[in-house]
Amino acid sequence: MHHFKYRDNVMFCEDVSIEEISAKVGTPFYLYSYATLKRHFQAFNAAFEDVPKLICFSAKANTSLAVLKIFADMGCGLDIVSGGELYRGLKAGFSPERIVYSGVGKRIDEIDYALETGILMFNVESHVELELINRRAADLQKRAPVAIRVNPNVDPKTHPYISTGLRKNKFGINTEAAIESYRMAGRLEHVDVIGIDCHIGSQITDTKPFEAALISLKTLINDLKQMGTDIKYLDMGGGLGITYADEMPPSLSEYAEAITQQLKGMDLQLILEPGRVLVGNAGIMITKVLYRKSGEVKNFVIVDAGMNDLLRPTLYNAFHAIEPVVNSKENLIVADVVGPICESSDFLAVDRNICDVESGDLLAVMSAGAYGYVMSSNYCSRPRVAEVMVKGDRFHVIKTRENYEDLVRGESLPPFFEA
Ligand code: PLP
Repeated sequence: MHHFKYRDNVMFCEDVSIEEISAKVGTPFYLYSYATLKRHFQAFNAAFEDVPKLICFSAKANTSLAVLKIFADMGCGLDIVSGGELYRGLKAGFSPERIVYSGVGKRIDEIDYALETGILMFNVESHVELELINRRAADLQKRAPVAIRVNPNVDPKTHPYISTGLRKNKFGINTEAAIESYRMAGRLEHVDVIGIDCHIGSQITDTKPFEAALISLKTLINDLKQMGTDIKYLDMGGGLGITYADEMPPSLSEYAEAITQQLKGMDLQLILEPGRVLVGNAGIMITKVLYRKSGEVKNFVIVDAGMNDLLRPTLYNAFHAIEPVVNSKENLIVADVVGPICESSDFLAVDRNICDVESGDLLAVMSAGAYGYVMSSNYCSRPRVAEVMVKGDRFHVIKTRENYEDLVRGESLPPFFEA
């Protein structure tokens, strides 16, 4: 479900014409629908209404303050992986006791920041990290609530770059070693063991990997109980996929059913860390056709957005549907939709059936709300694009387009150049 629909052949976001926004804001830009974001959270929350739970939006998918604020205002929690995400989360209004902190490489300053803030829990990914968190808690005279991130060795059958729960992945601690981690945590003076955590990957389109991970975690929880360690929170991470092309991910109720079935009879509070499923289809990227070019073997549609603006096609060979903002042309061509960057990997689509566009036409790159703007860069000294949000018949630029001054902010020439 989303609110990007045609009215008389012009694409609208809710009640605003995207042509009109483009004329005022320029291109490229990311565009988010307030109603879609809100609806996605409500639907996700409702799917788990029968179980005690905390839904922690995974900030890495989209860290715009306006997007975060929508979720914070609805009582959502936050899953963070850096001090920067913690800073943004607090600025957007998330309460610290609804924040969980994952990630294999937490720095000392980031651990201190989270301890001072008083977050709900650290999802700990190694023994050395556990010891460090204990030491920092001692120094700061705090207690550190922790969960161990377990790597259940489950294949999520997704792109290898977004598989995280296999033995060969850098994430978490394998199931056997996790018992030892809990023993160790139990001996540490400034650590409170409160949870167990896993996240097996992203863009998962089948419930089975989630079930397999849960079965493995349940065994571990029972073993821990026998050891005298009671777990309060079970954090299942994120990972539910969305439809980019013709994928058929489980519905929210199927996903919720698969998870809650496994939890029957267990006295646990469930934590979920959805990212993509909440924001992916709530955002699109608008770009303008600069040139058409016919090579010897290919047609190219050269647009003003490049891999620095939307990296997913380059990084994962990811598919994003590309639709005309004004749907006025009947003829289709087969073309690569490419950006202005000097890399052959700078493409948004390859060998795509696309309408017969010309210079100046606007294209909507669909499903770009997750891992879109957050992965953008200044490569080739291209200012980052604007972000816009629509609510009903109003729109607002939630992040201004960078300018050339922004590109050199913070740079200086060394004094020794003078000598
Ligand atoms: N939690 C953790 C620890 C993650 O690493 C990720 C993404 O990689 C997520 C949650 C969110 O995943 P998704 O966007 O697939 O829901």
